[in-house]
Amino acid sequence: MSRNAKREGDQAPDSYGFETRMIHAGAQPEPVTGARQTPIFQNTSYAFHDAEHAASLFNLQTFGFIYSRLTNPTTAVLEERLASLEGGRGATCTASGHAAQLLTFFAFMEPGDHFIASTRLYGGSITQFGKTFRKFDWHVSFVDVEEPEAVRRALTPKTKAIFVESLANPGGVVSDLEALAAIAKEAGIPLIVDNTLASPWLCRPIEWGADLVVHSTTKFLSGNGTAMGGAVIDSGGFDWTAAGERFRGLNAPEPAYHGLAFHETFGDLAFTTHAHAVGLRDLGTTMAPQHAFLTLLGTETLALRMERHCSNALKVAAFLAEQEAVAWVSYSGLPDNPYHALANKYLPRGAGSVFTFGLKDGYAAGVRLVEEVNLFSHLANVGDTRSLILHPASTTHRQLSEEQRQAAGAGEEVIRLSIGLETVEDLIADLSQGLETAALAARRAAV
Ligand SMILES: *Cc1c(COP(=O)(O)O)cnc(C)c1O
Repeated sequence: MSRNAKREGDQAPDSYGFETRMIHAGAQPEPVTGARQTPIFQNTSYAFHDAEHAASLFNLQTFGFIYSRLTNPTTAVLEERLASLEGGRGATCTASGHAAQLLTFFAFMEPGDHFIASTRLYGGSITQFGKTFRKFDWHVSFVDVEEPEAVRRALTPKTKAIFVESLANPGGVVSDLEALAAIAKEAGIPLIVDNTLASPWLCRPIEWGADLVVHSTTKFLSGNGTAMGGAVIDSGGFDWTAAGERFRGLNAPEPAYHGLAFHETFGDLAFTTHAHAVGLRDLGTTMAPQHAFLTLLGTETLALRMERHCSNALKVAAFLAEQEAVAWVSYSGLPDNPYHALANKYLPRGAGSVFTFGLKDGYAAGVRLVEEVNLFSHLANVGDTRSLILHPASTTHRQLSEEQRQAAGAGEEVIRLSIGLETVEDLIADLSQGLETAALAARRAAV
């Protein structure tokens, strides 16, 4: 195990500002060579000092490196950095965002258990939770989390968690984290927040009461569309022991480690230690060191990029809201948006750069628009330096029923944009010509 909480000599204590920590947290010059940038430790395994050292590593009595399925020095730097940026106690990196979700639920779900998730989630998460998790006999209720009473009604004695996105993909919807944290606390279960679209620069869910924060680092954290990855950051604040029988994975003696109980032994590092020593060990959903390196490069410029992502997105959203062919724009940065007040509260620095709008001419115009634009790339990703465009109904949300699509904000007239860092006038000009051609084509087809 690497100790991914604050180490002695850590060059970026929490008293430093966010921008300082996004460059320095977790990293120090490499002690042997002095290499300043974190090297890629392209290693599967690490030599033990002696037999006793090996034994104590395997017993979890010493933090250190054994085998890269569990921990790797490059990945450990990223883990410390993400924990610092989110204000958490520890972090665990994974091969993808979906792997982070699997690893998170794996820590405490038993067959027959249940959790509550927002209806407004990334399409892939709806499929993972609703279909694939059922194979483990894990059950989910998708609930409109804007109705606190509906969330309370969905709680059962088997409910282990509430899962929401801070800024929801794809609709630009903002979740009321403080209200949801209060419900989770009342029920004695963790609130898990997917903070992918906001990034810790725009929103820090732990400050609003979240217990666990998950990320697809594939998106804004790496930022260039280069590296798949995920992370789960633990606040360290959830009392896994008080929750008793319901969280045995974290508070009961673990036979594989000589009856060690994680919460009793590791305190506020219980979840993070368990996620490495049991989760990564047995699920094998490990982040590659090369991807940790690329993601570390991304974190160094996070604040700068997010500022430009947000200011470009606001200008593009304001432009679209004025267009004849556009029925509506769902961007919580616009003052008349129903989520504007929540955005001001939870995302005061900007409402992110992923949002949707609806075309008056529906499905046909949507399919045409994604083909007409030149600068926007038609693909299924968000959080790239490049601007991206997608028609969810014919792609990411294709697997869902029309009712689920509507609930997820991905109906057939919906276009999703992820605004990049290009010159904003170029983006607006590209959308302008694309909208004109798409509307013309739709009108011709209707004659
Ligand atoms: C992309 C995404 C995921 C899944 O992450 P992967 O890295 O693609 O596995 C989960 N949640 C949100 C909000 C996403 O945008």
